[in-house]
Amino acid sequence: MIHIQNYINGGFTDPIKNEWLDNICPADGLVYGKLPNSCTKDVQIAYEAAHDAYLSWSETSIEKRSAILLKIASLIEANLERFAVAESKDNGKPISVARSIDIPRAASNFRFFSQAITQFYSESHEVRSQKTINYTLRHPLGVVGCISPWNLPLYLLTWKIAPAIATGNCVVAKPSEVTPYTAFLLGEICNEAGLPKGVLNIVHGLGSTTGQAIVGHPNIKAISFTGGTETGKLIAKTAAPFFKKLSLELGGKNPNIIFADCDYNKMLSTSVKSSFSNQGQICLCGSRLFVEASIYEKFKVDFIERVGQLIVGPPSEESTQIGALVSKAHFEKVLSYIDGIDKTQNRVLFGGKRMRIQGHENGYYLSPTIIEVNSNQCKLNQEEIFGPVVTLMPFESDDDVLEMANDVKYGLSATLWTNNLKRSLLFSEQLEAGIVWINTWMQRDLRTPFGGTKSSGVGREGGFEVLRFFTETKNICINYE
Ligand code: NDP
Repeated sequence: MIHIQNYINGGFTDPIKNEWLDNICPADGLVYGKLPNSCTKDVQIAYEAAHDAYLSWSETSIEKRSAILLKIASLIEANLERFAVAESKDNGKPISVARSIDIPRAASNFRFFSQAITQFYSESHEVRSQKTINYTLRHPLGVVGCISPWNLPLYLLTWKIAPAIATGNCVVAKPSEVTPYTAFLLGEICNEAGLPKGVLNIVHGLGSTTGQAIVGHPNIKAISFTGGTETGKLIAKTAAPFFKKLSLELGGKNPNIIFADCDYNKMLSTSVKSSFSNQGQICLCGSRLFVEASIYEKFKVDFIERVGQLIVGPPSEESTQIGALVSKAHFEKVLSYIDGIDKTQNRVLFGGKRMRIQGHENGYYLSPTIIEVNSNQCKLNQEEIFGPVVTLMPFESDDDVLEMANDVKYGLSATLWTNNLKRSLLFSEQLEAGIVWINTWMQRDLRTPFGGTKSSGVGREGGFEVLRFFTETKNICINYE
Protein backbone atom coordinates (compact mmCIF):
# COMPACT_ATOMS: atom_id res chain seq x y z
CA MET A 1 0.00 0.00 0.00
CA ILE A 2 1.27 3.45 -0.86
CA HIS A 3 1.21 5.98 1.94
CA ILE A 4 0.89 9.44 0.43
CA GLN A 5 1.60 12.40 2.70
CA ASN A 6 1.30 16.15 2.49
CA TYR A 7 4.47 18.02 1.50
CA ILE A 8 4.69 21.01 3.79
CA ASN A 9 7.71 23.14 4.64
CA GLY A 10 10.02 20.70 2.88
CA GLY A 11 8.85 17.72 4.94
CA PHE A 12 6.29 14.94 4.60
CA THR A 13 3.46 14.96 7.11
CA ASP A 14 0.27 13.10 7.91
CA PRO A 15 -2.95 15.13 8.02
CA ILE A 16 -3.67 16.75 11.39
CA LYS A 17 -6.96 14.89 11.91
CA ASN A 18 -5.43 11.62 10.72
CA GLU A 19 -8.23 11.19 8.18
CA TRP A 20 -7.46 9.30 4.98
CA LEU A 21 -8.92 8.66 1.55
CA ASP A 22 -8.52 5.58 -0.62
CA ASN A 23 -6.35 5.73 -3.67
CA ILE A 24 -7.88 3.43 -6.28
CA CYS A 25 -6.20 1.94 -9.32
CA PRO A 26 -8.59 2.36 -12.30
CA ALA A 27 -6.99 -0.57 -14.12
CA ASP A 28 -8.52 -3.05 -11.68
CA GLY A 29 -10.69 -1.01 -9.29
CA LEU A 30 -8.56 -1.99 -6.28
CA VAL A 31 -7.40 0.26 -3.46
CA TYR A 32 -3.63 0.50 -3.54
CA GLY A 33 -2.89 3.46 -1.34
CA LYS A 34 -4.05 6.02 1.18
CA LEU A 35 -3.86 9.77 0.87
CA PRO A 36 -4.54 12.55 3.36
CA ASN A 37 -8.03 13.93 3.66
CA SER A 38 -6.64 17.31 4.71
CA CYS A 39 -8.71 19.87 6.56
CA THR A 40 -8.63 23.66 6.84
CA LYS A 41 -5.95 23.45 9.55
CA ASP A 42 -3.61 21.52 7.22
CA VAL A 43 -4.10 24.23 4.60
CA GLN A 44 -3.39 26.89 7.22
CA ILE A 45 -0.11 25.17 8.20
CA ALA A 46 0.85 24.97 4.53
CA TYR A 47 -0.03 28.63 4.11
CA GLU A 48 2.15 29.62 7.08
CA ALA A 49 5.10 27.66 5.68
CA ALA A 50 4.65 29.41 2.33
CA HIS A 51 4.30 32.79 3.99
CA ASP A 52 7.47 32.28 6.04
CA ALA A 53 9.43 31.29 2.93
CA TYR A 54 8.15 34.16 0.83
CA LEU A 55 10.44 37.06 1.78
CA SER A 56 13.61 35.14 1.13
CA TRP A 57 12.34 33.40 -2.04
CA SER A 58 10.96 36.57 -3.60
CA GLU A 59 14.36 38.20 -3.12
CA THR A 60 16.33 35.25 -4.39
CA SER A 61 18.07 36.16 -7.63
CA ILE A 62 16.47 35.14 -10.89
CA GLU A 63 19.60 33.18 -11.77
CA LYS A 64 19.29 31.10 -8.63
CA ARG A 65 15.56 30.49 -9.03
CA SER A 66 16.12 29.58 -12.64
CA ALA A 67 18.90 27.11 -11.72
CA ILE A 68 16.67 25.36 -9.16
CA LEU A 69 13.82 25.00 -11.67
CA LEU A 70 16.25 23.60 -14.19
CA LYS A 71 17.50 21.08 -11.63
CA ILE A 72 13.92 19.99 -10.91
CA ALA A 73 13.40 19.45 -14.66
CA SER A 74 16.54 17.32 -14.90
CA LEU A 75 15.59 15.26 -11.86
CA ILE A 76 12.11 14.56 -13.24
CA GLU A 77 13.79 13.33 -16.41
CA ALA A 78 16.24 11.22 -14.44
CA ASN A 79 13.26 9.62 -12.66
CA LEU A 80 11.07 9.42 -15.74
CA GLU A 81 10.26 5.74 -15.50
CA ARG A 82 9.30 5.92 -11.83
CA PHE A 83 7.02 8.89 -12.47
CA ALA A 84 5.51 7.31 -15.60
CA VAL A 85 4.66 4.07 -13.81
CA ALA A 86 3.05 6.02 -10.94
CA GLU A 87 1.04 8.23 -13.31
CA SER A 88 -0.19 5.31 -15.36
CA LYS A 89 -1.23 3.34 -12.27
CA ASP A 90 -2.97 6.31 -10.66
CA ASN A 91 -4.80 7.59 -13.72
CA GLY A 92 -5.32 4.50 -15.89
CA LYS A 93 -3.54 6.05 -18.89
CA PRO A 94 -1.34 3.81 -21.05
CA ILE A 95 2.23 3.65 -19.78
CA SER A 96 3.43 4.68 -23.26
CA VAL A 97 1.44 7.93 -22.94
CA ALA A 98 2.72 8.69 -19.43
CA ARG A 99 6.27 8.00 -20.60
CA SER A 100 6.16 9.98 -23.83
CA ILE A 101 3.77 12.82 -22.97
CA ASP A 102 2.88 13.44 -19.33
CA ILE A 103 6.24 13.18 -17.62
CA PRO A 104 8.42 14.73 -20.34
CA ARG A 105 5.99 17.65 -20.42
CA ALA A 106 6.20 18.08 -16.63
CA ALA A 107 9.98 18.36 -17.02
CA SER A 108 9.52 20.78 -19.94
CA ASN A 109 7.27 22.98 -17.83
CA PHE A 110 10.07 23.53 -15.30
CA ARG A 111 12.72 23.88 -18.01
CA PHE A 112 10.65 26.32 -20.02
CA PHE A 113 9.85 28.61 -17.08
CA SER A 114 13.42 28.43 -15.80
CA GLN A 115 14.33 30.14 -19.06
CA ALA A 116 11.25 32.31 -19.52
CA ILE A 117 11.84 34.05 -16.21
CA THR A 118 15.29 35.20 -17.35
CA GLN A 119 13.67 36.88 -20.38
CA PHE A 120 10.63 38.37 -18.61
CA TYR A 121 10.53 42.12 -18.98
CA SER A 122 8.47 45.13 -18.10
CA GLU A 123 7.81 48.29 -20.08
CA SER A 124 8.73 51.94 -19.83
CA HIS A 125 6.93 54.81 -21.57
CA GLU A 126 8.30 58.27 -22.06
CA VAL A 127 6.27 61.42 -22.82
CA ARG A 128 8.97 63.87 -23.87
CA SER A 129 6.65 66.86 -24.26
CA GLN A 130 5.64 66.52 -20.59
CA LYS A 131 9.08 65.41 -19.45
CA THR A 132 7.68 62.26 -17.84
CA ILE A 133 8.85 58.74 -17.84
CA ASN A 134 6.77 55.80 -16.70
CA TYR A 135 8.18 52.46 -15.80
CA THR A 136 6.38 49.33 -14.76
CA LEU A 137 7.34 46.92 -12.00
CA ARG A 138 6.13 43.34 -11.80
CA HIS A 139 6.46 41.92 -8.33
CA PRO A 140 5.44 38.46 -7.09
CA LEU A 141 2.03 38.30 -5.44
CA GLY A 142 2.96 36.41 -2.25
CA VAL A 143 1.35 33.06 -1.50
CA VAL A 144 -0.71 31.67 -4.37
CA GLY A 145 -2.94 28.60 -4.80
CA CYS A 146 -2.68 26.06 -7.63
CA ILE A 147 -5.46 23.51 -8.10
CA SER A 148 -5.29 20.90 -10.84
CA PRO A 149 -7.44 18.07 -12.26
CA TRP A 150 -6.86 14.34 -12.71
CA ASN A 151 -6.60 13.96 -16.47
CA LEU A 152 -2.98 15.11 -16.90
CA PRO A 153 -1.97 15.10 -13.24
CA LEU A 154 1.71 16.08 -13.09
CA TYR A 155 1.62 17.81 -16.48
CA LEU A 156 -1.05 20.31 -15.36
CA LEU A 157 0.11 20.70 -11.76
CA THR A 158 3.61 21.68 -12.90
CA TRP A 159 2.16 23.93 -15.63
CA LYS A 160 0.99 26.10 -12.72
CA ILE A 161 3.64 25.55 -10.06
CA ALA A 162 6.64 26.24 -12.32
CA PRO A 163 5.63 29.79 -13.38
CA ALA A 164 4.32 30.57 -9.89
CA ILE A 165 7.65 29.86 -8.19
CA ALA A 166 9.72 31.17 -11.11
CA THR A 167 8.18 34.61 -10.52
CA GLY A 168 9.06 34.48 -6.81
CA ASN A 169 5.76 33.39 -5.30
CA CYS A 170 5.31 30.62 -2.77
CA VAL A 171 2.65 28.03 -3.43
CA VAL A 172 -0.03 25.99 -1.71
CA ALA A 173 -1.07 23.38 -4.27
CA LYS A 174 -3.73 20.70 -4.40
CA PRO A 175 -3.73 17.97 -7.03
CA SER A 176 -6.90 16.03 -7.70
CA GLU A 177 -7.72 13.62 -4.92
CA VAL A 178 -8.19 10.97 -7.63
CA THR A 179 -4.57 11.19 -8.85
CA PRO A 180 -2.24 12.33 -6.05
CA TYR A 181 0.72 10.01 -6.60
CA THR A 182 3.10 11.95 -8.88
CA ALA A 183 2.51 15.18 -6.95
CA PHE A 184 3.68 13.29 -3.87
CA LEU A 185 6.83 12.15 -5.68
CA LEU A 186 7.49 15.71 -6.83
CA GLY A 187 8.15 16.81 -3.22
CA GLU A 188 11.20 14.56 -2.97
CA ILE A 189 12.54 15.93 -6.25
CA CYS A 190 12.10 19.52 -5.08
CA ASN A 191 14.08 18.83 -1.92
CA GLU A 192 16.84 17.14 -3.91
CA ALA A 193 16.97 20.11 -6.30
CA GLY A 194 17.49 22.49 -3.36
CA LEU A 195 14.14 24.26 -3.50
CA PRO A 196 14.03 26.09 -0.15
CA LYS A 197 11.51 24.67 2.28
CA GLY A 198 8.08 26.27 2.22
CA VAL A 199 8.34 27.57 -1.35
CA LEU A 200 6.13 24.75 -2.54
CA ASN A 201 3.57 23.02 -0.33
CA ILE A 202 1.30 20.25 -1.59
CA VAL A 203 -1.82 19.46 0.39
CA HIS A 204 -3.92 16.45 -0.58
CA GLY A 205 -7.64 16.08 -0.05
CA LEU A 206 -11.09 16.64 -1.45
CA GLY A 207 -11.92 19.60 -3.60
CA SER A 208 -14.94 20.51 -1.54
CA THR A 209 -12.90 20.80 1.68
CA THR A 210 -9.14 21.09 1.05
CA GLY A 211 -9.59 22.87 -2.27
CA GLN A 212 -12.25 25.14 -0.87
CA ALA A 213 -9.98 26.02 2.09
CA ILE A 214 -7.27 27.18 -0.33
CA VAL A 215 -9.67 29.23 -2.44
CA GLY A 216 -11.33 30.75 0.64
CA HIS A 217 -8.07 31.55 2.47
CA PRO A 218 -8.06 35.32 2.90
CA ASN A 219 -4.31 35.69 2.39
CA ILE A 220 -3.81 33.45 -0.61
CA LYS A 221 -3.62 36.11 -3.28
CA ALA A 222 -4.36 34.26 -6.49
CA ILE A 223 -5.84 30.98 -7.66
CA SER A 224 -4.76 29.20 -10.79
CA PHE A 225 -7.36 26.51 -11.37
CA THR A 226 -7.87 23.89 -14.05
CA GLY A 227 -10.97 21.72 -13.87
CA GLY A 228 -14.65 21.59 -14.64
CA THR A 229 -16.81 24.60 -15.47
CA GLU A 230 -19.18 24.08 -12.52
CA THR A 231 -16.24 23.94 -10.09
CA GLY A 232 -14.85 27.04 -11.77
CA LYS A 233 -18.08 28.91 -11.02
CA LEU A 234 -17.89 27.93 -7.36
CA ILE A 235 -14.28 29.02 -7.16
CA ALA A 236 -15.04 32.37 -8.76
CA LYS A 237 -17.85 32.91 -6.26
CA THR A 238 -15.70 32.00 -3.25
CA ALA A 239 -12.75 34.10 -4.40
CA ALA A 240 -14.75 37.18 -5.44
CA PRO A 241 -15.15 38.82 -1.98
CA PHE A 242 -11.36 38.70 -1.55
CA PHE A 243 -10.71 40.20 -5.02
CA LYS A 244 -8.24 37.42 -5.73
CA LYS A 245 -6.59 37.14 -9.10
CA LEU A 246 -8.11 34.17 -10.88
CA SER A 247 -7.03 32.08 -13.79
CA LEU A 248 -9.69 29.54 -14.72
CA GLU A 249 -9.00 26.86 -17.32
CA LEU A 250 -12.29 25.01 -17.65
CA GLY A 251 -14.17 22.50 -19.78
CA GLY A 252 -14.53 22.22 -23.53
CA LYS A 253 -16.71 20.74 -26.25
CA ASN A 254 -14.39 21.28 -29.14
CA PRO A 255 -15.36 21.07 -32.80
CA ASN A 256 -13.23 19.16 -35.29
CA ILE A 257 -14.23 20.56 -38.70
CA ILE A 258 -13.27 18.50 -41.71
CA PHE A 259 -13.48 19.86 -45.25
CA ALA A 260 -13.21 17.72 -48.37
CA ASP A 261 -10.17 19.69 -49.57
CA CYS A 262 -7.97 18.63 -46.65
CA ASP A 263 -5.01 16.25 -46.63
CA TYR A 264 -7.26 13.25 -45.99
CA ASN A 265 -4.81 10.71 -44.56
CA LYS A 266 -3.19 13.17 -42.19
CA MET A 267 -6.64 14.34 -41.07
CA LEU A 268 -7.84 10.78 -40.51
CA SER A 269 -4.96 9.64 -38.32
CA THR A 270 -4.88 12.93 -36.37
CA SER A 271 -8.65 12.82 -35.85
CA VAL A 272 -8.35 9.37 -34.26
CA LYS A 273 -5.82 10.87 -31.83
CA SER A 274 -7.73 14.08 -31.19
CA SER A 275 -10.83 12.03 -30.40
CA PHE A 276 -9.45 9.30 -28.17
CA SER A 277 -6.02 10.19 -26.76
CA ASN A 278 -5.90 9.70 -23.00
CA GLN A 279 -9.30 7.93 -23.25
CA GLY A 280 -10.75 11.21 -24.56
CA GLN A 281 -9.97 12.81 -21.24
CA ILE A 282 -8.12 15.86 -22.56
CA CYS A 283 -9.86 19.20 -22.41
CA LEU A 284 -8.59 19.83 -25.98
CA CYS A 285 -9.97 16.65 -27.53
CA GLY A 286 -12.19 17.30 -30.53
CA SER A 287 -15.45 15.66 -29.45
CA ARG A 288 -17.80 17.04 -32.12
CA LEU A 289 -16.75 15.99 -35.61
CA PHE A 290 -18.34 17.93 -38.44
CA VAL A 291 -17.56 16.43 -41.85
CA GLU A 292 -18.32 18.01 -45.22
CA ALA A 293 -21.22 16.08 -46.79
CA SER A 294 -19.31 15.09 -49.96
CA ILE A 295 -16.84 12.97 -47.96
CA TYR A 296 -19.06 12.10 -45.01
CA GLU A 297 -19.86 8.47 -45.94
CA LYS A 298 -16.23 7.70 -46.85
CA PHE A 299 -14.97 9.31 -43.66
CA LYS A 300 -17.46 7.38 -41.57
CA VAL A 301 -16.27 4.02 -42.92
CA ASP A 302 -12.57 4.89 -42.65
CA PHE A 303 -12.87 6.42 -39.18
CA ILE A 304 -14.76 3.42 -37.80
CA GLU A 305 -12.15 1.09 -39.26
CA ARG A 306 -9.25 3.04 -37.72
CA VAL A 307 -10.93 3.38 -34.34
CA GLY A 308 -11.65 -0.35 -34.40
CA GLN A 309 -7.92 -0.99 -34.59
CA LEU A 310 -7.17 0.84 -31.33
CA ILE A 311 -5.98 -1.53 -28.62
CA VAL A 312 -7.92 -1.19 -25.38
CA GLY A 313 -6.09 -2.83 -22.52
CA PRO A 314 -4.36 -2.62 -19.17
CA PRO A 315 -2.44 0.66 -18.81
CA SER A 316 0.76 -1.16 -17.85
CA GLU A 317 0.99 -3.04 -21.15
CA GLU A 318 3.23 -1.50 -23.78
CA SER A 319 0.82 -2.23 -26.63
CA THR A 320 -2.18 -0.55 -24.97
CA GLN A 321 -3.48 2.55 -26.75
CA ILE A 322 -6.65 3.11 -24.73
CA GLY A 323 -6.39 2.44 -21.01
CA ALA A 324 -8.96 2.70 -18.22
CA LEU A 325 -11.13 5.70 -17.38
CA VAL A 326 -9.94 7.45 -14.26
CA SER A 327 -12.54 6.39 -11.69
CA LYS A 328 -15.74 4.44 -11.18
CA ALA A 329 -17.76 7.64 -10.79
CA HIS A 330 -16.38 9.11 -13.99
CA PHE A 331 -16.80 5.83 -15.87
CA GLU A 332 -20.46 5.67 -14.84
CA LYS A 333 -21.01 9.28 -15.83
CA VAL A 334 -19.58 8.71 -19.32
CA LEU A 335 -21.55 5.50 -19.76
CA SER A 336 -24.77 7.25 -18.71
CA TYR A 337 -24.43 9.62 -21.68
CA ILE A 338 -24.23 6.65 -24.04
CA ASP A 339 -27.02 4.68 -22.36
CA GLY A 340 -29.23 7.76 -22.32
CA ILE A 341 -29.12 8.59 -26.02
CA ASP A 342 -32.30 9.26 -27.90
CA LYS A 343 -32.21 6.37 -30.36
CA THR A 344 -34.64 8.06 -32.72
CA GLN A 345 -32.16 10.89 -33.25
CA ASN A 346 -28.74 9.36 -32.61
CA ARG A 347 -27.05 6.11 -33.58
CA VAL A 348 -24.08 4.37 -32.01
CA LEU A 349 -21.81 3.54 -34.94
CA PHE A 350 -19.04 1.96 -32.90
CA GLY A 351 -18.35 0.94 -29.29
CA GLY A 352 -20.57 2.25 -26.54
CA LYS A 353 -19.96 -0.67 -24.20
CA ARG A 354 -18.01 -1.52 -21.10
CA MET A 355 -15.07 -3.78 -21.88
CA ARG A 356 -14.03 -6.59 -19.58
CA ILE A 357 -10.31 -7.05 -19.84
CA GLN A 358 -9.08 -10.48 -18.80
CA GLY A 359 -7.37 -10.35 -15.43
CA HIS A 360 -8.68 -6.78 -14.88
CA GLU A 361 -12.42 -7.47 -14.90
CA ASN A 362 -13.22 -4.70 -12.42
CA GLY A 363 -11.25 -2.00 -14.27
CA TYR A 364 -13.02 0.96 -15.84
CA TYR A 365 -12.62 0.13 -19.55
CA LEU A 366 -14.89 1.58 -22.17
CA SER A 367 -14.52 0.97 -25.87
CA PRO A 368 -13.96 4.09 -27.96
CA THR A 369 -17.40 5.24 -29.03
CA ILE A 370 -18.64 6.96 -32.18
CA ILE A 371 -22.19 8.29 -32.30
CA GLU A 372 -23.91 9.76 -35.33
CA VAL A 373 -26.17 12.65 -34.34
CA ASN A 374 -28.91 14.52 -36.16
CA SER A 375 -28.58 17.87 -34.52
CA ASN A 376 -25.92 19.97 -32.84
CA GLN A 377 -28.54 20.80 -30.22
CA CYS A 378 -28.57 17.30 -28.74
CA LYS A 379 -27.18 16.72 -25.25
CA LEU A 380 -24.24 14.75 -26.66
CA ASN A 381 -23.11 17.82 -28.60
CA GLN A 382 -23.87 20.40 -25.95
CA GLU A 383 -22.44 18.84 -22.77
CA GLU A 384 -18.86 17.94 -21.99
CA ILE A 385 -18.61 14.15 -21.63
CA PHE A 386 -14.82 14.04 -21.15
CA GLY A 387 -14.41 10.43 -22.18
CA PRO A 388 -13.83 8.30 -25.29
CA VAL A 389 -17.06 9.41 -26.96
CA VAL A 390 -17.32 11.51 -30.12
CA THR A 391 -20.19 12.50 -32.34
CA LEU A 392 -20.32 12.72 -36.15
CA MET A 393 -22.44 15.03 -38.25
CA PRO A 394 -22.30 16.05 -41.91
CA PHE A 395 -22.47 19.70 -43.02
CA GLU A 396 -23.26 21.37 -46.33
CA SER A 397 -21.72 24.84 -46.20
CA ASP A 398 -19.07 26.97 -44.48
CA ASP A 399 -21.75 29.10 -42.85
CA ASP A 400 -23.65 26.11 -41.48
CA VAL A 401 -20.62 24.50 -39.90
CA LEU A 402 -19.34 27.75 -38.43
CA GLU A 403 -22.68 28.33 -36.82
CA MET A 404 -22.79 24.82 -35.33
CA ALA A 405 -19.17 25.00 -34.16
CA ASN A 406 -19.91 28.17 -32.22
CA ASP A 407 -23.36 27.16 -31.02
CA VAL A 408 -22.24 25.72 -27.69
CA LYS A 409 -21.52 27.30 -24.31
CA TYR A 410 -17.84 26.31 -24.41
CA GLY A 411 -15.00 27.96 -26.33
CA LEU A 412 -11.72 26.24 -25.57
CA SER A 413 -10.28 24.96 -28.84
CA ALA A 414 -11.24 24.15 -32.41
CA THR A 415 -9.59 22.14 -35.16
CA LEU A 416 -9.99 22.86 -38.84
CA TRP A 417 -8.96 20.63 -41.73
CA THR A 418 -8.72 22.44 -45.08
CA ASN A 419 -6.15 23.50 -47.62
CA ASN A 420 -8.09 26.63 -48.53
CA LEU A 421 -6.15 29.61 -47.17
CA LYS A 422 -9.03 32.07 -47.30
CA ARG A 423 -11.28 29.67 -45.42
CA SER A 424 -8.55 29.02 -42.83
CA LEU A 425 -8.17 32.71 -42.14
CA LEU A 426 -11.90 33.41 -42.00
CA PHE A 427 -12.59 30.48 -39.69
CA SER A 428 -9.65 31.32 -37.42
CA GLU A 429 -11.10 34.76 -36.99
CA GLN A 430 -14.69 33.66 -36.45
CA LEU A 431 -14.39 30.49 -34.39
CA GLU A 432 -15.20 31.26 -30.76
CA ALA A 433 -12.23 29.52 -29.15
CA GLY A 434 -9.04 30.42 -27.33
CA ILE A 435 -7.00 28.01 -29.45
CA VAL A 436 -7.47 27.14 -33.12
CA TRP A 437 -5.53 24.37 -34.83
CA ILE A 438 -5.38 24.25 -38.60
CA ASN A 439 -4.34 20.95 -40.17
CA THR A 440 -2.94 19.74 -36.87
CA TRP A 441 -3.92 19.06 -33.27
CA MET A 442 -2.20 19.40 -29.90
CA GLN A 443 1.06 20.78 -31.23
CA ARG A 444 2.02 22.90 -28.27
CA ASP A 445 4.55 25.70 -28.03
CA LEU A 446 4.84 26.72 -24.38
CA ARG A 447 5.39 30.37 -25.35
CA THR A 448 1.86 30.69 -26.67
CA PRO A 449 -1.19 31.92 -24.72
CA PHE A 450 -3.34 29.04 -23.51
CA GLY A 451 -6.95 29.21 -22.37
CA GLY A 452 -10.57 29.44 -23.39
CA THR A 453 -13.45 31.82 -23.95
CA LYS A 454 -17.12 31.63 -22.84
CA SER A 455 -17.66 28.84 -20.27
CA SER A 456 -14.19 27.43 -20.98
CA GLY A 457 -12.48 29.90 -18.72
CA VAL A 458 -11.09 33.26 -17.82
CA GLY A 459 -7.55 34.40 -18.49
CA ARG A 460 -4.63 32.84 -20.30
CA GLU A 461 -1.73 30.75 -19.05
CA GLY A 462 1.48 29.87 -20.88
CA GLY A 463 4.47 32.00 -21.90
CA PHE A 464 4.65 35.54 -20.55
CA GLU A 465 0.86 35.57 -20.04
CA VAL A 466 1.14 33.38 -16.96
CA LEU A 467 4.18 35.27 -15.67
CA ARG A 468 2.03 38.39 -15.81
CA PHE A 469 -0.76 36.53 -14.01
CA PHE A 470 1.54 35.55 -11.16
CA THR A 471 2.86 39.11 -10.70
CA GLU A 472 1.36 42.36 -9.48
CA THR A 473 1.88 45.26 -11.83
CA LYS A 474 2.79 48.70 -10.57
CA ASN A 475 3.39 51.73 -12.76
CA ILE A 476 5.67 54.56 -11.60
CA CYS A 477 5.57 57.96 -13.26
CA ILE A 478 8.47 60.42 -12.81
CA ASN A 479 8.46 64.01 -13.95
CA TYR A 480 12.03 65.07 -14.69
CA GLU A 481 11.41 68.68 -15.61
P1 NDP B 1 -13.00 19.19 -11.11
O1 NDP B 1 -13.50 20.56 -11.39
O2 NDP B 1 -13.91 18.22 -10.48
O3 NDP B 1 -11.71 19.24 -10.19
C1 NDP B 1 -10.53 19.97 -10.51
C2 NDP B 1 -9.75 20.22 -9.23
O4 NDP B 1 -10.50 21.09 -8.40
C3 NDP B 1 -9.51 18.96 -8.40
O5 NDP B 1 -8.27 19.08 -7.73
C4 NDP B 1 -10.67 19.01 -7.43
O6 NDP B 1 -10.43 18.24 -6.29
C5 NDP B 1 -10.72 20.50 -7.12
N1 NDP B 1 -11.99 20.98 -6.61
C6 NDP B 1 -13.22 20.44 -6.71
N2 NDP B 1 -14.13 21.21 -6.07
C7 NDP B 1 -13.46 22.26 -5.56
C8 NDP B 1 -13.84 23.41 -4.80
N3 NDP B 1 -15.10 23.63 -4.45
N4 NDP B 1 -12.89 24.30 -4.45
C9 NDP B 1 -11.61 24.10 -4.83
N5 NDP B 1 -11.19 23.04 -5.52
C10 NDP B 1 -12.10 22.13 -5.91
O7 NDP B 1 -12.44 18.66 -12.49
P2 NDP B 1 -11.89 17.22 -12.81
O8 NDP B 1 -10.76 16.89 -11.90
O9 NDP B 1 -13.06 16.30 -12.89
O10 NDP B 1 -11.25 17.45 -14.25
C11 NDP B 1 -11.97 17.38 -15.42
C12 NDP B 1 -12.35 18.76 -15.91
O11 NDP B 1 -11.18 19.55 -16.08
C13 NDP B 1 -13.01 18.72 -17.26
O12 NDP B 1 -14.13 19.57 -17.26
C14 NDP B 1 -11.96 19.28 -18.19
O13 NDP B 1 -12.45 19.89 -19.34
C15 NDP B 1 -11.25 20.24 -17.31
N6 NDP B 1 -9.92 20.53 -17.83
C16 NDP B 1 -9.69 21.76 -18.40
C17 NDP B 1 -8.46 22.04 -18.97
C18 NDP B 1 -8.17 23.38 -19.56
O14 NDP B 1 -6.99 23.68 -19.74
N7 NDP B 1 -9.15 24.21 -19.86
C19 NDP B 1 -7.39 21.03 -19.00
C20 NDP B 1 -7.75 19.79 -18.37
C21 NDP B 1 -8.98 19.55 -17.81
P3 NDP B 1 -10.98 16.73 -6.20
O15 NDP B 1 -10.57 16.03 -7.43
O16 NDP B 1 -10.32 16.22 -5.01
O17 NDP B 1 -12.46 16.88 -6.08
